Amino acid sequence: MSREILIFDTTLRDGEQSPGCSMDFNEKMEMADMLDSMGVDIIEAGFPAASEGDFKSVESVASRAKNAIVAGLCRAVEGDIRAVADAVKPAKRGRIHTFISTSPLHRKYKLQKTEDEVLDLIKYSVGLSRQLCDDVEWSAEDATRTEDDYLCKSVETAIASGATTVNIPDTVGYSTPEDYYRMIDMLKNRVPNIDKAVISTHCHNDLGLAVANSIAGVRAGAGQIECTVNGIGERAGNASVEEIVMAFKTRSDVYPFTTNIISEKLFPASQLLSSITGVNVQPNKAIVGANAFAHESGIHQDGILKNVMTYEIMTPESVGQSESNLVLGKHSGRNAFRARLKSLGIELADNALNDAFHKFKALADEKKTITDEDLKKLAS
Ligand SMILES: [Zn+2]
Repeated sequence: MSREILIFDTTLRDGEQSPGCSMDFNEKMEMADMLDSMGVDIIEAGFPAASEGDFKSVESVASRAKNAIVAGLCRAVEGDIRAVADAVKPAKRGRIHTFISTSPLHRKYKLQKTEDEVLDLIKYSVGLSRQLCDDVEWSAEDATRTEDDYLCKSVETAIASGATTVNIPDTVGYSTPEDYYRMIDMLKNRVPNIDKAVISTHCHNDLGLAVANSIAGVRAGAGQIECTVNGIGERAGNASVEEIVMAFKTRSDVYPFTTNIISEKLFPASQLLSSITGVNVQPNKAIVGANAFAHESGIHQDGILKNVMTYEIMTPESVGQSESNLVLGKHSGRNAFRARLKSLGIELADNALNDAFHKFKALADEKKTITDEDLKKLAS
């Protein structure tokens, strides 16, 4: 039996905090519509207390979202909490997402508060949020560097105060899959009221482990993953939605989890975000990179032409990329060369083909990639 995992997208909040990725009002609306139509369960639309512009965009996403729950983020401060409650009011389903740091480092230096004072703030902020909204998420900022006992106490307090989702962020991207599994598993086993809330993951990618950590959290019992399109977010970014969705789809044999995401929209969503922000993903980015379904080596190209399964574990169409791309370069072989000519409407007899192929190899030594124009010249 597979378990359905909620996708909480924070492209418009955490993602927007990445350098170079800020979006104006219209761009946010365009992105929000895409997220809503691709099947995201919860859209975190911004931080309403941050600015008037942020308030407005959360409010507008709340009024236009057809399917998704719309969330806004706030500190454990009355003004912040009320701002989110007001901003998400037009939503069919709104969520207040409030957070406070729980780690000793943050308690001492950032908050300058004792353990008990932080527990009181959890009670207060979650309690107030719950009076204003039925759907309340509470986050333990820097959870992965918090003492086990104190984290358990904090989570128990948040749930007792009315939190319906408890988020366990790896704020600084320090966790490993083993650490993160152990932490979620511990909460499952030690917090007495844990069954009354959904456990959520929020992993940063400082060590390139955000997706692996999120999946480890889900295996241990988490029911929601926080992630972003293209993995954008603070510093090295967040877990990337496209990698999570396709890991579950492609390896359902070992990951018995499903999501509501329409995977064919992953590439269009990635393209839309890149065009809005002007920040492209690296060509070798999994799932949505320009080279994710490109093959240059002759051996691979020959295999692909005979049966795509030889070198592809999923189809480009399943993520919304148009088709496998056989890149013609110096590693390419005769079969790919012939296939490309054929697709250009050029069919050569064996001798002429040999001749053209030799010219192609010589040209490929000079140029990195060979264009269709180059090929037409070679064949004529
Ligand atoms: Zn974050």
